[in-house]
Amino acid sequence: MNCSDCKDKLDRYLDRELSNTEMLELQLHLEGCPPCAENYEFQAGLKRLVKVCCEQDKAPEAFREKLRQILT
Ligand SMILES: [Zn+2]
Repeated sequence: MNCSDCKDKLDRYLDRELSNTEMLELQLHLEGCPPCAENYEFQAGLKRLVKVCCEQDKAPEAFREKLRQILT
């Protein structure tokens, strides 16, 4: 697992769509790699924010688009 793998799989990690082995590998990488851990915190925070917004109301398309721009 390197930083590029980590970045690649982070989204699926947050959605818990990876296999147990991959989840563990990614977790280990995050523990040993501060930049990736920071990225993870950021993405996780963003995901929580989106979840809250979506639960309150359907997120408008413009808002989704903005998020996509932030995420890429
Ligand atoms: Zn890394």
